[in-house]
Amino acid sequence: MKNNNLSVILIGVLTLVIVVLGSLVYVFQKDSVMLTSNIYNEVDSQLNWVNDSAIVIEKRLESVNDNKKYKIKIKLPTINIYKWIEVSWVEYKIISEEDKIKVHYIYDNNGIEYFQLIRDDIGKLIFDDTRPIIVLDAGHGGMDRGGGSNNLWDEKDMVLKITLKQRDLLKDSDIRVILTRDEDEYITLFDRCAIINYIEPEILISNHINRFNGTAKGIEVIYNRTANVEFAWDLANALSTHGIDVFRVWNRKDDSFTSMDYYALHKYTYTNSYILEYGFADNERDAKIITDKWEDMAKTVVKMIENYFE
Ligand SMILES: [Zn+2]
Repeated sequence: MKNNNLSVILIGVLTLVIVVLGSLVYVFQKDSVMLTSNIYNEVDSQLNWVNDSAIVIEKRLESVNDNKKYKIKIKLPTINIYKWIEVSWVEYKIISEEDKIKVHYIYDNNGIEYFQLIRDDIGKLIFDDTRPIIVLDAGHGGMDRGGGSNNLWDEKDMVLKITLKQRDLLKDSDIRVILTRDEDEYITLFDRCAIINYIEPEILISNHINRFNGTAKGIEVIYNRTANVEFAWDLANALSTHGIDVFRVWNRKDDSFTSMDYYALHKYTYTNSYILEYGFADNERDAKIITDKWEDMAKTVVKMIENYFE
């Protein structure tokens, strides 16, 4: 008798648990807010944002429990799928408006890993254009002025000018250009790498200006392990026609992983990457030439890029 009662109670409890769990799962899929209100605080619902060709973040929610994780719902409009991904921090951003590819990025502490996940789902849908894609990266930005600054310019501004010029020159070409930034804003190296890995460009050009202690001068090109060494030299030699000699063209390896690249943009991206240092900001002659001829130098790089894809 007792056993029977126990069984009935157990079955009853189990049924209740199953029903509750089932409805939770249902609610979870059906409506984010209903379930998440128990676990998450809604941090910002103003992130709602609609576009034909990009990821839409529907909600930004903050975990009540550990105060660390956000749960976000992203919509992939072209295939109409909703997906839940847990990240520790999230933000979206328009990278390129002109090309009408609205690239948005979401970042957390493992930015790169996360981007691979999205890329698998929508990469091909967004980038069904057959033209080669390149990423032009203007170094530094925002609070990061850049070491290659002097009393004539901040590195972040000069390299942005060069980058925007290059983008404009390539506007009507058969090459698609995506920028990591097109204004004075701070983007972490991890974000840059995430953007680049998301886009999977054929090449990456990262624009910089050097600075040492006044004794160094010249153009420097640092390429990564998969890059075309000849193209790296072509870039340096072509740039040197404006009056700044080639300082060096090289690939720096990580001391702890001899087969790995050293610089983050090289090391954490999967593309052929070239860091261009247009000269030394603290060398008077280099600085003068960059000030006078930055547009020509930008043009030269564009020409070399066009040659590369011919
Ligand atoms: Zn720099």
